[in-house]
Amino acid sequence: MTNEGWKLENSYSQLPRTFYREQMPTPVRDPEIVMFNGPLAESLGLNAKELNSEDGAEIFAGNQLPEGAEPIAQAYAGHQFANFTMLGDGRAVLLGEQITPDGKLVDIQLKGPGRTPYSRGGDGRASLGPMLREYIISEAMHGLGIPTTRSLAVTTTGEPVYRETELPGAILTRVASSHLRVGTFQYAAQWGTKEDLQALADYAIKRHYPHVENDENRYLSLLKEVVKHQAELIAKWQLVGFIHGVMNTDNMTISGETIDYGPCAFMDTFDPGTVFSSIDIQGRYAYGNQPAIGGWNLARLAESMLTLLADEEEEALQLAQDAIAQYPKLYHTHWLSGMREKIGLYNEETEDKTLIEDLLKLMHKHEADYTNAFRALTLDQLDDKPLFESEEFTQWKENWEARLERQEETKEASQELMRKSNPSVIPRNHRVEEALEAAVEKGDYSVMKKLLQVLTDPYAYSSEQEDYTTLPEPTDVPYQTYCGT
Ligand code: AMP
Ligand code: MG
Ligand code: MG
Repeated sequence: MTNEGWKLENSYSQLPRTFYREQMPTPVRDPEIVMFNGPLAESLGLNAKELNSEDGAEIFAGNQLPEGAEPIAQAYAGHQFANFTMLGDGRAVLLGEQITPDGKLVDIQLKGPGRTPYSRGGDGRASLGPMLREYIISEAMHGLGIPTTRSLAVTTTGEPVYRETELPGAILTRVASSHLRVGTFQYAAQWGTKEDLQALADYAIKRHYPHVENDENRYLSLLKEVVKHQAELIAKWQLVGFIHGVMNTDNMTISGETIDYGPCAFMDTFDPGTVFSSIDIQGRYAYGNQPAIGGWNLARLAESMLTLLADEEEEALQLAQDAIAQYPKLYHTHWLSGMREKIGLYNEETEDKTLIEDLLKLMHKHEADYTNAFRALTLDQLDDKPLFESEEFTQWKENWEARLERQEETKEASQELMRKSNPSVIPRNHRVEEALEAAVEKGDYSVMKKLLQVLTDPYAYSSEQEDYTTLPEPTDVPYQTYCGT
């Protein structure tokens, strides 16, 4: 037997059985690995060379189990566009938790391995395009320094899936600090006993926030940690212009990682109303609404934890409200300090918020590309754009320069900070589409690999990134995304 490096635990299966069902992946006809993340594999203690092989394909397709795996499908619920429903892994199977070289547990999950008890109407399968898309965007998020689930491999199944048309089937191997969701707590509160809920909360603490284990009210501490981590995460999304697209409570993690790359996309022209998802008719999950939706989702988490927070209902409510009330403040603090960095500020002045908001207003008014506008400020290449040619901007720039003068750091130090805070490249929609088209239509993965290469260090400002900063030819058709299946 070759040494693939698996060191799997099955800690989730220690939870009450209401949280999962044993579920074997359904074998597929002809598995082939089309994308493999060698550096990620190695960081997990896995043997990249052994796994990026025909044997590896059998594992990543669910035909063979890795050593130590006891596959399960997880139960969860969620508010989807504000409607509460029972969900669960309808097309995902958790193989187990890999113990990494630094002693952490990370979930190894197959996405698209066939039906489970939670599948309802679906076929439990996934198609190649959306799995490659998740691979690109999640790895781009990682490159940007934003907490996220990762993509270890995409494996084609050799079987078609049927959507509006026939599409090639594929399975994504997803790596996550865990797949615990706000929706997992909602599920426990709605359909479990208090003991179930408590077991879940204790598991979440052990897995993600072990430092609160001995706190006087550890469940309150857990809630506060999730609030803190989500506030920071969503601020990071806003700072790079990431639009998640489907911030349902089942798509919000307890760990504070970004999860579920269905209809997400990066904003190009700055506009708080930007929505890409074809199903988000009301704009509930528009760019500018994301921070508030984060708060709404966390309130659902707090509600589901009430019985753990205190014996007296009134006291529990008060504790929950106080914890949730911290969210907007925490969010704003992260957002503001991130924005300060984006314009090269080291110290703080009360007027900074206005300075930043004024810039964003001008970007909106002059329909500036969000990423490129900050990139141009960073490189001090302020020409040839309606924004930079406007008189209002000249005025803004004077204020900004006066503000930079009022800090000790040099102009060079400011530029250095801006380079670290403003990505030179993002996965632009037309570039992502181009990469997917080459891969899915022609079996040519070179376009995608080159794109991923450029996205590994988006703050590099390297010459090879230049080409990826250009905008597509304008069209009348707005870019649309779908809940990737
Ligand atoms: P998602 O949009 O991928 O987060 O899916 C929402 C819910 O629908 C989750 O519970 C999924 O497991 C389930 N689901 C989505 N697509 C499928 C499918 N093809 N087969 C079975 N269940 C699915
Ligand atoms: Mg989901
Ligand atoms: Mg999805």
